[in-house]
Amino acid sequence: MKVVRTIADVRAAVAEARGKGLTVGLVPTMGYFHEGHLSLMRKSVSENGFTVVSLYVNPLQFAPTEDLAQYPRDFERDVRMAGETGVDVLFAPDDAEMYPDGPEAHRTIVSVRGLNAVLCGRSRPTHFDGVTTVVSKLFHIVAPDRAYFGQKDYQQALIIRRMVRDLNIPVEIRVAPIVREPDGLAMSSRNAYLTPDERAAAPVLYRTLSQAAAMIRDGERDAGRIRSFLRDTIAAAPHARLDYAEVVDPDTLADVDVIDGPVLLAVACYFGRARLIDNMLVTP
Ligand code: AMP
Repeated sequence: MKVVRTIADVRAAVAEARGKGLTVGLVPTMGYFHEGHLSLMRKSVSENGFTVVSLYVNPLQFAPTEDLAQYPRDFERDVRMAGETGVDVLFAPDDAEMYPDGPEAHRTIVSVRGLNAVLCGRSRPTHFDGVTTVVSKLFHIVAPDRAYFGQKDYQQALIIRRMVRDLNIPVEIRVAPIVREPDGLAMSSRNAYLTPDERAAAPVLYRTLSQAAAMIRDGERDAGRIRSFLRDTIAAAPHARLDYAEVVDPDTLADVDVIDGPVLLAVACYFGRARLIDNMLVTP
């Protein structure tokens, strides 16, 4: 696996692969890899002749009060892990490469209106614009045939699909299932922030989502009751500070009243300084 730092170098590597007739997969990440990341890399390696993983902690998607400076990093370990999955190029630019005038002076923002303002967008109002802006930059830099995202960040994947459709970006978006720890906790780089007590409490998210899904499959049709169950159960867990628990339409993210089709159960909750998210698609 080649590690490249500049846009010119990643473009040259992709051009060479294209010259050999290979298809190109892109896996955008912020590093500190776990099995969730590796599952996306393996999927891309299996579906494309050439895979680029980008590793960039994008300042544009962090609010000033958020964890940009503390975001966990281990570059040597990431290089080793990505290399072992068969990735061809790890593109790890610095801020000067991505935002030559500094992130504050960056003038062009890609914004998927409406979808960026609900669920996580309510407590992180500038987050998704940062994501769509950097992902569209990566799409222009790498020009992949396919790009890989995790269902763990369901709203992010939905917004990126919509951006690609609205802007006619010629890339196929592939979404892979959530990879979990044995006790159900969704893998996340931010799990590294958890103290042992918080780590012990955090599986309440998956447990509660699973129970709510079972209630729906057993015939519960009142989304309000599911919402209350999610909120009350999670909020009662030790160390939990609930951000949101919602039952929404999987395509529009609009609130659902009566469950008469597939719904997305989506939760966000702080445990100490870690803000964790999880979700589950349920078909009644
Ligand atoms: P991140 O480095 O956290 O920005 O994540 C990079 C990509 O990995 C995103 O598309 C995430 O949705 C995906 N991802 C993160 N955690 C998981 C997980 N537990 N299972 C599947 N995909 C994940």
